[in-house]
Amino acid sequence: MTDMARGRALARSTALSRKGRISMTHSEQQPWEWDERIWRGHVERVRAGRSLAPKTWPGGARCAVAVSFDSDHETPALRDGQTSPAKLAQGEYGARVAVPKILDMLERHRIPASFFMPAVCALLRPQEARSYTKAGHELAIHGWIHERNTQLGAESERELQLRAADTLEQISGVRPVGIRTPSWDFSAHTLSITREMGLLYDSSLMADDEPYELVEDGEATGVVEIPVEWIRDDAPYFMMERFGSLRPYIAPRDVLRIWQDEFAAAYAAGGLFQLTLHPHIIGHRSRLTVLDELLAHIAGHDGVWLATHRDIAEYCRAQHDQN
Ligand SMILES: [Zn+2]
Repeated sequence: MTDMARGRALARSTALSRKGRISMTHSEQQPWEWDERIWRGHVERVRAGRSLAPKTWPGGARCAVAVSFDSDHETPALRDGQTSPAKLAQGEYGARVAVPKILDMLERHRIPASFFMPAVCALLRPQEARSYTKAGHELAIHGWIHERNTQLGAESERELQLRAADTLEQISGVRPVGIRTPSWDFSAHTLSITREMGLLYDSSLMADDEPYELVEDGEATGVVEIPVEWIRDDAPYFMMERFGSLRPYIAPRDVLRIWQDEFAAAYAAGGLFQLTLHPHIIGHRSRLTVLDELLAHIAGHDGVWLATHRDIAEYCRAQHDQN
């Protein structure tokens, strides 16, 4: 790179946007060439602010449990342009076979859950979207077609996120108040869009075990983060790709042990146990058996507040707004 080109790259990389934020365009610079403003700006774009872990949970409960399902069905395949009927049938299984069994299981254990649903799935099966809210569960945003936000421009991401929320509301009659970015692919623009929409919470980030407030460029946003983790997600344990090297590497009963240990530690700490599942992944017989055991194990404990992500976000924010 010539000095002139380096100068241009630096000027671009340090240019301040309208709101005084550091521009993220610095494609000609390597990370080791960034000055402090650049690497610090990236890190501070979205940060964990104050903890929103409450001193007590409702009814004197010892811990909170937030079970969620990402009803992706066919959309991860569609998003990648994989349109073969064979591939799409794997997602179809989630809607046709798994969801009814999951709804029965949640009812049997009296567990309210949060369902994050791409808008395309809700358009494919409006009855399914409505069945979640009718059963007392939460329906929340999970993108338009499970798009990858970091591959989109800010305007495209914004338009899809707004359209997804409108679509879920039109179909279910309930305006969603929370978002989980598809694949937890939270871009540098996601939080601005989420704030513009006035959403209560996000559930895509991993900076804590307990709920916390998101901070954008040093500014507290009021947006509650209900944190997730790959450890408490079925996908990394069970996914399989026929023509790639990806194979399930752990038995369902060993995953049960991990999740029981995660729950036990949350219970001991008086904190939150949050779980992310996918109907087309967890919804097979040997895995549903294990999920049933986990939910029975959790529901069998005294002092567990079983709640939706929305309930937990509302409670945590209200507790801290009072103080
Ligand atoms: Zn998803």
